[in-house]
Formats: sequence, structure tokens, C-alpha cells
Amino acid sequence: MTAKKCPCCGYFTIEDDYDICAVCYWEYDTVAHNMPNVVIGPNGVSLKQAQKNYKDFGASEKKFIDEVRAPEVEEFPENNLENK
Ligand SMILES: [Zn+2]
Repeated sequence: MTAKKCPCCGYFTIEDDYDICAVCYWEYDTVAHNMPNVVIGPNGVSLKQAQKNYKDFGASEKKFIDEVRAPEVEEFPENNLENK
């Protein structure tokens, strides 16, 4: 199973399009990924804002702080090859 990289937190948590990342709770959404400054699609914040939120408090939005988990070893970028 090859996972895709979550564009918000950078861990390889995404197995299907429209998956929700377990580490930051960003919903994978290629439309939003191409418009990182726009709030669009299923996520309540822009990708840029979600990335900042993850850095600030560890989740893409404040309401998800209690839902997220720490990344697992196999989800670290150094344990994955970038695939598109
Ligand atoms: Zn993520």
C-alpha cells in the first residue's frame, strides 16, 4: 500500500482521494490543493491556513485538536517515496 503525502502536515497518511488525514484532519482535496489561499471544498479553512494551524497547534482546525493522533513511523516522509 502506497500512501500519498498530506499537503497540510506533510506526513504520508492519505490512501484514497477524499481521505481525511488522521494526523492533522485535513481532508484530501485536489481542488483546494491547487488554490491554497482559497477556502473551498470540504475543509473549513484554506490549505495555507491549515498548514499554519498545524504548525501552531497540531491540527488543521482548532475543533479537530482532540481528533488527531501523532504520525506513525511509516508515515514519516523519510520512510516514503514521493509519488504523484
Ligand atoms: Zn495531514
